[in-house]
Amino acid sequence: MANVTAQARSGKVVVRNIGLLLSGDIDRPILEADTVVVDDGRIVAIGREKDCDTAGARTTIDARGTALAPGLIDSHVHPVFGDWTPRQNQIGWIDSCLHGGVTTMISAGEVHLPGRPKDVVGVKALAITAQRAFDGMRTAGLAGGVKVLAGAPVLEKGMEEADFAEMAAAGVRLLGEVGLGSVKAGDEAARMVAWARKHGIQSTIHTGGPSIPGSGLIDESVVLEADADVIGHINGGHTALSYKAVCTLCERSPRAMEIVHNGNERIAILTARHAIELRCPHRIILGTDAPAGSGVQPLGILRMIALLSSMADIPAEICFGFATGNTARMRGLEQGLIEPGRPADFVFLDRAQHSAGADLLDSVRLGDIPGVGMVMIDGIVRCTRSRNTPPAAEVPVVQD
Ligand SMILES: [Zn+2]
Repeated sequence: MANVTAQARSGKVVVRNIGLLLSGDIDRPILEADTVVVDDGRIVAIGREKDCDTAGARTTIDARGTALAPGLIDSHVHPVFGDWTPRQNQIGWIDSCLHGGVTTMISAGEVHLPGRPKDVVGVKALAITAQRAFDGMRTAGLAGGVKVLAGAPVLEKGMEEADFAEMAAAGVRLLGEVGLGSVKAGDEAARMVAWARKHGIQSTIHTGGPSIPGSGLIDESVVLEADADVIGHINGGHTALSYKAVCTLCERSPRAMEIVHNGNERIAILTARHAIELRCPHRIILGTDAPAGSGVQPLGILRMIALLSSMADIPAEICFGFATGNTARMRGLEQGLIEPGRPADFVFLDRAQHSAGADLLDSVRLGDIPGVGMVMIDGIVRCTRSRNTPPAAEVPVVQD
């Protein structure tokens, strides 16, 4: 299944008998529908089965009453090349995350490449190569077809506006974490972030203490001055700023607030609560910051959803939206919402066997990780029962 190429189009796919349809949109998290119709990788209809044109499907999936949600988006990863990370010398980590329901990953910089170039020409060359290589992997259907959006250069001293224009013209759309390169001062970062934005390149900034020996502190004043599009790991990666400093960022910046698995869990919970109190929950997006010193967490996004729902008392369906529709909107992605015209990237979930929760949402609210029963990317089944989650009580079946 992992070798299905992206050129193989899904044709018409009907998913019926959905027990719970999570939209990814926190303003309307649950849709009153039991059927989704897909044509060549895109959603074309959502509704009751009797109201949908289900004839002539190439593939029909009986969801068997399980939940369908948008494929999860990990807003913060550090890929290098292929499905290998030198950080913990591990292979197959992206495919393992597919089994945790993740269908899209966004690079916050390919900074773990041994001998990473730090001169401007080398930085640009690496960014363009990484963008091409991960795009090529997806096209070839490698690593389960997970959409790894990579080619995210970190800012180094000496970069000029022309460098950002050149990278943008070559297809680079992301900046790696500001602060991981030699540019660490707020004013210098702000100038480069503005050039990047002008040329359609989205930016993320490291927030908090140093992640490993050799990296540095980025405090709230630098984050505010740099004004990157995403306040990367607002709960630290790993060491968080004080709760007071995090509140300052919530209140004084309009940018996305990214909460990660590899950060401070107390600040993760407090940040989510504060965002709800400030009525800006749309700014919360989730990542893992894997691979890192804490390793790789194939279930990291599901663990964040369960953590925030159970410990910050946020409804589970809203927490799924943090990891899907919120990220889609804050980052301008097509995927991450269940709407006609959007890519058919889906995760099928059910309560884990023997969870104390009565159903999927109740189990997550109680802090349990749900079971993944199937993952689709662009309408193509990429895995069935997850090898990594606890077993789902019920799983979808492909009907012939
Ligand atoms: Zn970082």
